Amino acid sequence: MTVDFKKSIRTLVVEDDSQDFLLIKTALRNSDRADYQVRHLTTLAQATDALVDGDFDILLLDYFLGEHSGLDVLNQAREIHCTKPIVVMTGTNAPELDDMLMKQGAADFIPKDDLSTAFLDRTIRHALERKSAELEIAELVRRDHLTGLGNRVLFEEHMELAIARASRSSSQLAVLFMDLDRFKDVNDSLGHHIGDLLLTLVGDRLKRSVRKSDFVARIGGDEFTVLLDGINSPEDVSQIVEHICKEVCRPAPVSNTTLDVSVSIGVALYPENGELPIELMQKADMALYESKALGPGHYHFFTEHLQARLMRGLELEKALRDALADNEFELFFQPQIDIDSQQIAGLEALIRWRRSDGELVSPDEFIPVAVRCGLIVPIGQWVIETACSIISRWRKAGIRVPMSINVSPRQLKFNGFVDHLLDCVRHHELAPGDLEIELTEEVFIDSGVSYRQMMQKIKDAGVRIAIDDFGTGYSSMRYLRDLPLDRIKIDRSFVSGNGEASLSEPAITQSILSLAHGLHLEVVAEGVETNEQVNLLCQQGCRYFQGYHFYRPMPLAELEPRLSNH
Ligand code: C2E
Ligand code: CA
Ligand code: CA
Repeated sequence: MTVDFKKSIRTLVVEDDSQDFLLIKTALRNSDRADYQVRHLTTLAQATDALVDGDFDILLLDYFLGEHSGLDVLNQAREIHCTKPIVVMTGTNAPELDDMLMKQGAADFIPKDDLSTAFLDRTIRHALERKSAELEIAELVRRDHLTGLGNRVLFEEHMELAIARASRSSSQLAVLFMDLDRFKDVNDSLGHHIGDLLLTLVGDRLKRSVRKSDFVARIGGDEFTVLLDGINSPEDVSQIVEHICKEVCRPAPVSNTTLDVSVSIGVALYPENGELPIELMQKADMALYESKALGPGHYHFFTEHLQARLMRGLELEKALRDALADNEFELFFQPQIDIDSQQIAGLEALIRWRRSDGELVSPDEFIPVAVRCGLIVPIGQWVIETACSIISRWRKAGIRVPMSINVSPRQLKFNGFVDHLLDCVRHHELAPGDLEIELTEEVFIDSGVSYRQMMQKIKDAGVRIAIDDFGTGYSSMRYLRDLPLDRIKIDRSFVSGNGEASLSEPAITQSILSLAHGLHLEVVAEGVETNEQVNLLCQQGCRYFQGYHFYRPMPLAELEPRLSNH
């Protein structure tokens, strides 16, 4: 009795010459090492379809294919990240061609005049072994080590392949962007270890809540993505998303505690919302952002409304680029008052964009766009340079007033930030205390970057550091104590936020003032609009004030006459 141990290898032969095909087929059939299941294709179009299907182990490819060449197939294989080895059969003896084919991703090549069974066997076996080793490594760099899920790279590759497949079968796909609500709180209050356990658990639940044909990845901190295949309608997607939410958002037993889990999800559809992976990812991300605005535990589809916003953003981005080149930005200044001396104690520089038609655009409109597209970096540099040069000019005229500038977290992430800032300070020979940067609490949430050293360097150069909009973000007392800060600015929502003459949140302003003074930090109250607010804040121990009650932000020409007595 004989038992067949021969390994079965699904072999695609792309060959337009039927005689050559017969030779190959016979050689393969004679093998006693492997059981080749041969499928014969004759055109580029058939080969392309087969690549997308991926239903084979190895592809033997004739280099000459009618008016096409094997290169066309190799290119397509690369585009869709085909993971199967392709061995090219070349008719001519041309070493340069062979080299070039290997560079284009061929696993190996065989001269057509040596189609012996032994040679084919060996070449195919080696190609399969090499490919599997290669894939193992590739797999490692495409995996998220914590959860074992794919990472962003792998996710995008899967998307490309799925899109190629869906476009052929005119079917739909859905891309889900998901993040855990309040994950930062878990990390901060219970530690990274618990945070990691929670992420692993969520990854696990996610994977179990989708079908086999769907793909789940972790693309960053607490961000997961899911690719849903074979979708028939948006209603389908809603159902699946609701099912996923139900599965993932159950209480999570982690270590010794039980955590409530909730997620927010943004959805983009192929082909309705876009045909490129990057486009779909961006749109799902925007939809996620929108769902966050609805509160925790919601999901949101990418909509016409978001599309309009995206277009406006793109137009604005282009206009901002031009504005930077055409020097259309300008600084306004809002004085801060020292209530003890009744004098101007400082200025906050606030950027404005004066469009060529004279319209003045508020930073609330364009800063968020500049942040998203990275233009905030050069715009921020312009602010620093302009502020430093004004301070230096005033000094020569005998005027000294400290000036604050706003710095977004995105600017700090840019590597050259500190060097540029300190270069400007040195170049204009600013004295300690002349310049202050205002950072928002957001900066400290992002644990990826080490801001402590950065801030110390800035401070050592004589630049003061203030926390802006204090109380609206993270409000952790820990960083107030640990970081080299000089001042905090109470957000205006606590001062005049409810539109009434009185203080809107007296208990909060009081506790911020007590806390800050305990830590020897100066406090500025922002958005002060009425005399009553000034009086109440004075009773609570506040000394510095900024707001419409004293001054509105004003252009340089209006400000300078008021400073002549400084
Ligand atoms: P911010 O840093 O909180 O600036 C204070 C904002 O409050 C300014 O708005 C100011 O005009 C406004 N304000 C001042 N006093 C009062 C008041 O009594 N009542 C009310 N309701 N509002 C008051 P503005 O100038 O429109 O700036 C908006 C935001 O844009 C700023 O908020 C800041 O986050 C950002 N920004 C402004 N200039 C820059 C800049 O050069 N770089 C960066 N990265 N961001 C900037
Ligand atoms: Ca500010
Ligand atoms: Ca502020």
